[in-house]
Amino acid sequence: MVSATSREDATTEGVVARELAIGCHLSSSKGYAAMGREALSIGANTFAFFTRNPRGGNAKKADPQDAAELCALLDREGFGKLVAHAPYTMNLCSAKPDVRDFGRRAMAEDLERMELLPGNYYNFHPGSHVGQGADEGIRLICSALDDVLDMGQSTTVLLETMAGKGSEVGRTFQEIACILEGCAKSDVLGVCLDTCHVWDGGYNIRVDLDGVLNEFDRVIGLDRLCALHLNDSKNDCASHKDRHEKIGEGYLGINTFAAVVSHPRLRDLPMVLETPNKLDGYAREIALLRSLAW
Ligand code: FE
Ligand code: FE
Ligand code: ZN
Repeated sequence: MVSATSREDATTEGVVARELAIGCHLSSSKGYAAMGREALSIGANTFAFFTRNPRGGNAKKADPQDAAELCALLDREGFGKLVAHAPYTMNLCSAKPDVRDFGRRAMAEDLERMELLPGNYYNFHPGSHVGQGADEGIRLICSALDDVLDMGQSTTVLLETMAGKGSEVGRTFQEIACILEGCAKSDVLGVCLDTCHVWDGGYNIRVDLDGVLNEFDRVIGLDRLCALHLNDSKNDCASHKDRHEKIGEGYLGINTFAAVVSHPRLRDLPMVLETPNKLDGYAREIALLRSLAW
């Protein structure tokens, strides 16, 4: 879809510097192509969107022509990969069979629709085991993924690192690794690292970003890391709260984000803001993050 070279600019030294792929969550209510135009209007060159109402329910019927129009825009403007988001109500490891079934059905439908935008990412929250224990949660998640994923799909499905609120699975890198290892179709799986979530989950990326990334590499493998959610946090490290804050206004602080967007292992990944903002606030944060990259 996107040629890597279209984001490259030769500098005076002849070194190739790649423009960051940054964007935010956009509303899909006006369709696909409208999201592309909205992204351009705020200086974004990637974005996220909910594949259906975030609280669940049925998805609108997709319009292939609208999707093709977006694909042409993404190509023309050299966008990074998009990071679609599954509904929050998806819980593949619920104790309730009907909730698990909804999650499977929704993911299968969403992935079918994602093929209208080939080669992008689909991010989901691994789930909450609600008292069944993390091991049983991981088993149920793997079983659902084995049933729903198709090795021929062009979409990579991303497990989001979680804050560990309630009984959320995916707070530790070990739990994410267990899902990847337990799923027979892990070739089409990857990981999305959410800065607020890992911080709230107990990984101190403010003091030791390299140490956390080394740990990620040792436990999961950095080759699995496909995308970032950039959010500051309203709470301190290991709070397990999951309350996002504007960039630079929370506990992580602006220096953490300067280090993240400049990191050689991170700077080529699509970065999506999920901060408490309207469009103008996102436009400012995107410009700010671009200015921070060294
Ligand atoms: Fe999320
Ligand atoms: Fe997130
Ligand atoms: Zn969150």
